[in-house]
Amino acid sequence: MRLEEMKKEIEKLVLEKGFYNKPEDVPKKLLFAFIELGEASDAWKKGNSEDEMAEELIDVIFYVLDASRLACPSIDMDEMFLRKLEKNTKREYQYGEGHRAKNKEHTY
Ligand SMILES: [Mg+2]
Repeated sequence: MRLEEMKKEIEKLVLEKGFYNKPEDVPKKLLFAFIELGEASDAWKKGNSEDEMAEELIDVIFYVLDASRLACPSIDMDEMFLRKLEKNTKREYQYGEGHRAKNKEHTY
């Protein structure tokens, strides 16, 4: 299933279950995604099964895609994924983690 298909399935679920469904609800959905990340972290720390871990990570994806549906409805998330993958692929080795190279220079 592609991301755009997932968004449609999530929208159906949101409407059917009466969840928040307005652009002004985007911050709540992003907060819920953070909460699910916390649940994933907790599952990892507790050594829970891969199945439980995967379920929490899917919860994160649900909320992220749900937020994207309302925050940037004209964007095709499958296309955006490919664009972002290409952009990141062109970046330098360990991009955004310059502190790792710096730490190697300093021995404390
Ligand atoms: Mg959860």
